[in-house]
Amino acid sequence: MIDQSILVLDEGTTSTRAMLFAQDGHLRGLEQAELTQHYPHSGWVEHDAQEIWEKTLVCARAMVEQAGGAERIAAIGITNQRETVVAWDKESGEPLARAIVWQDRRTADACAQLKEAGHEREVRARTGLLLDPYFSGTKMRWLLDHNDAVKAAADAGTLAFGTVESWLVWNLTGGKAHISDASNASRTLLLGLDASQWDQELCELFGVPGEALPRVVDCAGHLATTATGLLGGAIPICGMAGDQQSATIGQGCLAPGDTKATYGTGAFILANTGTHVPLPHHHLLGTVLFQLGGERHYAIEGAVFVAGSLIQYLRDSLGVIESAEETEALARSIPDNGGVVVVPALSGLGAPHWRPDARGIISGLGFDTGRAHVARAALEAMAHQTYDLAQAYAEDGAAWTGLRIDGGMAVNDWMAQDIADLLGLPVTRPDFVETTALGAAMLAAVGCGMKHDLAAAAETMIGATRVFDPQMDDALRQQRLARWNDAIAKV
Ligand code: ADP
Repeated sequence: MIDQSILVLDEGTTSTRAMLFAQDGHLRGLEQAELTQHYPHSGWVEHDAQEIWEKTLVCARAMVEQAGGAERIAAIGITNQRETVVAWDKESGEPLARAIVWQDRRTADACAQLKEAGHEREVRARTGLLLDPYFSGTKMRWLLDHNDAVKAAADAGTLAFGTVESWLVWNLTGGKAHISDASNASRTLLLGLDASQWDQELCELFGVPGEALPRVVDCAGHLATTATGLLGGAIPICGMAGDQQSATIGQGCLAPGDTKATYGTGAFILANTGTHVPLPHHHLLGTVLFQLGGERHYAIEGAVFVAGSLIQYLRDSLGVIESAEETEALARSIPDNGGVVVVPALSGLGAPHWRPDARGIISGLGFDTGRAHVARAALEAMAHQTYDLAQAYAEDGAAWTGLRIDGGMAVNDWMAQDIADLLGLPVTRPDFVETTALGAAMLAAVGCGMKHDLAAAAETMIGATRVFDPQMDDALRQQRLARWNDAIAKV
């Protein structure tokens, strides 16, 4: 028997990557290329869909070559930036417009109008989402209203819409498959959380023609097969999930209550809620975690706007630190925060406070305050923001039993310990931090039959982890929480 690998295509916002995983989950190879960001107007963010595909193909070919040919690849797994919309022509296969990226705010007015017309309640109940430009539905409508090529293709019946995984599968199959997995589809505003295909009424509300949309499929299984000419042989595509869902799977959050937090520029937290449709409050979102054999598993998702970007702000705008890594030594150099609290509401406050108008503060300054206090308080802000979300999840019936962390900030041991201390829960960090790609590899391994199910994939593919157990005494914890709550009240 030949030793086969899993090829993962990890299509991020700033780069496209192809990675080769062994059956035991260890990384055998990685090839990546930067993606050009287009900012045509304030608040607009676009990608060139053709560039995404071409760079994906170059990276994938490099990995197939490294593996020793297509027959050495058991399956492909795809994970991607979510909500980004691509429009292409089904006959020519050409993109009709630049892709509108998830960060793009151009449909803010359209969302406000839908909200004013009283649609948010119903949309939220069906999709788990909010009326916000972040999601795909209003982006699709914008293209139909503002782009002649998109409009003409819609009239001619040749328009195809899709999120990034859908666009990649279309190209990988030579135009044979127009599909989207349920985790990505659940970010469009057009899919009912418990409905297998698109919601007709939501398509009408957002003005998106159902015939332009992909077929919604499982996250694992024999989903499609690559066209033979592309990668030197036909390879089955067996796993697909949006990046945050994929990271949740890659962290092994497979049971209700299992929760992961990714601390990058911002922080994304997802808690597995099992097979019941979640109905969160507090501006948390309900989303599909994965779909297998037609059965859905769900998650509650919460986002913190400012995480690592606070550290960048301290370094680049205030000049308080020289590097992100330095925060750890600074935090350890003093016995406590000296009463300093940083509330990083630099672009408003996300869940659970949801105050876009709030602005950040540094409070408790005295002549004895040094830059170490500010750096330490900045790291402490991560634990506090996480704690506030934990409370909101608990009120939504999804109390955490522990927290698994990853992302660029999670390398900071001091911060990891502080999160454990404040939450009063064990915090677990995998040694292998590429959880997003690993999740797609696990799905593909299940989809091609290499692993029996996700639990078996988790057991054999997730490597060693480090656990940070809570140690803080409760009096100190209460004092920290009280000071933070005072500062939050001020902002
Ligand atoms: P993204 O995927 O959003 O681009 P990453 O996951 O790569 O972000 O994380 C990068 C962020 O982590 C940066 O904002 C950086 O300031 C922060 N960061 C990196 N190393 C550390 C560290 N040792 N301590 C604290 N923050 C860090």
